[in-house]
Amino acid sequence: MKTKLLYSLLFFTSFLFSQESFVINNVRLFDGEKVKENMSILIADGKVSKIASEPIQHQNIIDGKGKTLLPALTNAHVHVWAPASLEQAAKAGVLNLLDMHAVETLIPMMKGFRASNKHADYYCAGGAATAPKGHGTQYGFPTPTLTKPEEAKDFVEGRVKAGADYIKIIREPWKATLNEETTKALITAAHEANKKAVIHVSKAVDAHEVLKNKADGLVHIWEDTSLTKEQFDDLKGEEFFVIPTLLTMQKVQELFYKKTKEQALEKVKNMQDEVKRLYEIGVPILAGTDPPNGNINYGTDLYKELKLLNDAGLSTVDVLKSATSLPAIHFNLKDKGFLKEGYRADMILVDGNPTENIEDIAKTKRVFKQGKEVK
Ligand SMILES: [Zn+2]
Repeated sequence: MKTKLLYSLLFFTSFLFSQESFVINNVRLFDGEKVKENMSILIADGKVSKIASEPIQHQNIIDGKGKTLLPALTNAHVHVWAPASLEQAAKAGVLNLLDMHAVETLIPMMKGFRASNKHADYYCAGGAATAPKGHGTQYGFPTPTLTKPEEAKDFVEGRVKAGADYIKIIREPWKATLNEETTKALITAAHEANKKAVIHVSKAVDAHEVLKNKADGLVHIWEDTSLTKEQFDDLKGEEFFVIPTLLTMQKVQELFYKKTKEQALEKVKNMQDEVKRLYEIGVPILAGTDPPNGNINYGTDLYKELKLLNDAGLSTVDVLKSATSLPAIHFNLKDKGFLKEGYRADMILVDGNPTENIEDIAKTKRVFKQGKEVK
């Protein structure tokens, strides 16, 4: 009898939980595009049900005074090998992780956490395309490789079958690497399979080449030199985005090359200048940090990348877009990245105003996934 009562109580509370509806009144709203003061937002059935400039009457009200409500964040460059990383991200308000080189056997399990409000949602490239013994093969898990353009179509089909949401290609000449023809064939095959093709480069010359060959995005900014004026002008007609991963560059300099923080930031400064050049001609800049490289975490370290992008010259609002609406647009994250009527109530409530002071993003106090609080 007692157990029966307990079960019915449990059922009742979980029913209430799934039906959770509430209002946040008088909040500063960044909706993924614009900042609006003194807004009210009604959440119901896991979605944004209504947005108004007048307070909304409701029995369950959160006072948003002095706070800012934003779409949940996305980290557009990670490597996830354990569900604990999805939890670490979710706690920091990073509710979407875009994996750029996956262990393919883990994909179904990782995607199985989508309904959990303790875990971030996982998206992935599957195994990245690389040459035998190339960059990406050194991590001790099975990595598919290829050597010639004729193999590109099968390679892409294999990744799509394994559950890839987009295709990642590695051009990294410090080891054996794919040549231009194979890289180009992979980009074409990805597009034929209706997938974006994103590329790892470290050299400006490779960046120029793959972007001319219609890559959709770069998952790092190049680090060797600046694009020449000719290369830069030549890219003005191309459509692409860049995930600079500036924090990764800083940490790699400090940990791998044993540089002081000042020396590392000096190197990062050159990359920030390249980011600014791209930003000024309208290239979308997306936030990513490449954890666990450089001992970077899956959650709060993304805030540091936002600061580095702000220091590079992006406006605070464009920095916020880099981790919200822009990744949603460029990686087709359905109903995410914006807080508008009909979108998912994936959102963070921040004490302070990150739309003017980007460092306030570290004051993220409450995280909601589909309207349910992440505890
Ligand atoms: Zn990476």
